[in-house]
Order: sequence, then C-alpha cells, then structure tokens
Amino acid sequence: MSRKPLVAGNWKMHTAIGEAIRLAESVRRLVSDQSEADVVLCPPFVSLSAVADALRDGPIGLGAQDVHWEPQGAYTGAVSAPMLVDVGCQYCIIGHSERRHGMGESDEQINKKLAALLRHRLTPILCVGETLQERQRSETLSVVGRQVRAAVQGVAAGADGELPFLIAYEPVWAIGTGVNATPAQAQEVHQMIRRLIGELYGEAAAKGIRILYGGSVKPENVGELMRLEDVDGSLVGGASLSAESFSAIVHRSAEARLRKVGS
Ligand code: PEP
Repeated sequence: MSRKPLVAGNWKMHTAIGEAIRLAESVRRLVSDQSEADVVLCPPFVSLSAVADALRDGPIGLGAQDVHWEPQGAYTGAVSAPMLVDVGCQYCIIGHSERRHGMGESDEQINKKLAALLRHRLTPILCVGETLQERQRSETLSVVGRQVRAAVQGVAAGADGELPFLIAYEPVWAIGTGVNATPAQAQEVHQMIRRLIGELYGEAAAKGIRILYGGSVKPENVGELMRLEDVDGSLVGGASLSAESFSAIVHRSAEARLRKVGS
C-alpha cells in the first residue's frame, strides 16, 4: 500500500516573525510544483498568525509545536487547542523529546494533549522515541511501544477505521545530532509501531496510518529512509530552517512515493 508522504518542518525556537514569513513564502514557492507529498510547517507560537497568512489558500498545512489539554484557564504561558484552531492550525506536534526529557512531560500529559487536539479536530503529530541509554539496554521496542500505547489510550478510530493522528518515530539520540538511524533501525521500529496499531485498532488502521521518521533528516539521507516500507514521511528540525534543504526533502519524498506506487 502506498501512503501519501507527509513532511513536517519543526522550526523549534527559531525565526523571528519576519524570518518566519520569508521562510514560509520561500517553502511555498519551492514546493508548489508537486502534490505527491503533504507539507506542514510548525513555527513558534508567536509566528503562527503571520505564517497562516503567508500560507493562506495554499496546500501547505500549519502546525503548532505544543498545546495545553485544557481549553482555557489559569495556565500561564500555555496555549489551548481552541486557540490553535482560531489562529489557523490544522496540526500540532506533541510529545517531542525536547519536551518529554527537557521539560518533564509525562505519557499521561501527552495522552491528555492528544485527546484535547482531537476534540477540536486538530491532527496530532505524536512523537515517540528512545534515548541512547534505552537503545543500548535493548529497550527501544518496549519504550516506544509503551509511549504509543499510553498516548492513544481512550482514542477511537473513525468509522472507516482511519486514525485521526500521525506518529513520528524520533530516536532521541538522532535529534539535532547529525546522526540518523540506519534504515534497518528505522524500519524495525516503524514496523513494530504499525503492528501495534494493528493490534489496537485493526488492519485498516495499521495500513492507513502515516508513521514519520525524525532525527537529522537531510536531503542526502531522506531517499534511503523513504524507500523503507513503513516510513511515510519525516519530521524535520534543523534542515527545515533552510527553504532549499526542506524543499529538497519534500521533492525526494515525493519521488520516493512515485517509486513505491510504481513498484
Ligand atoms: C525534530 O526537531 O523533531 C528533529 C528531528 O530535529 P533534527 O531534524 O534537527 O534532528
């Protein structure tokens, strides 16, 4: 089965508003000649409104990098799902390792965030991944399996069996380090996640869900990752801050899809 690739750019805490607008406009121009891959940009909160304008009436989706699970209230510094809808988002990253490990976010909180996004018809991009120590202790599959199970607890598939979220496998040791997972390492974990989704939600959901890879994705390595049966796109950090690199990743992902469809 060929799933349409999705390439999401996580700009993290980079780009002032003017730079964010220019980057979004450049990406829009450079990927406008293809429709084989879905593209999503995730700027910092303060640039969401400006980037929404830059992307208006085009095919590129807008995502936030985090959300609070409550719709409103006394949560200083937090942003809610209805606010993300209001500013024009369709997607939101949750469970990024920089929040799990850097800010102590728990599986339980990630589950509440996922449910809050779904209540407001936003598509969660659920990040999961093991640390280097966990990989060295051969705990990768159990850690990632636990993270997925915990995050989707209580979430139902749609009537057609389709799941309303994406998963991004991001080994923590590969994020921002320049060291990406080998194709064999990535395929092993992606295949396990798809099997787990099959156990939890059935065959149709497992076949349909898009599982992205993240961790030092670049134009030079995206081709070998996208060739893998269970890799359906990428979540890109550093390389998404250059419109040229990011659009090259999108184009190579689109080409890989055409090859998968043709094979
Ligand atoms: C990320 O931020 O999710 C990420 C994968 O970063 P990088 O591509 O820089 O490793």
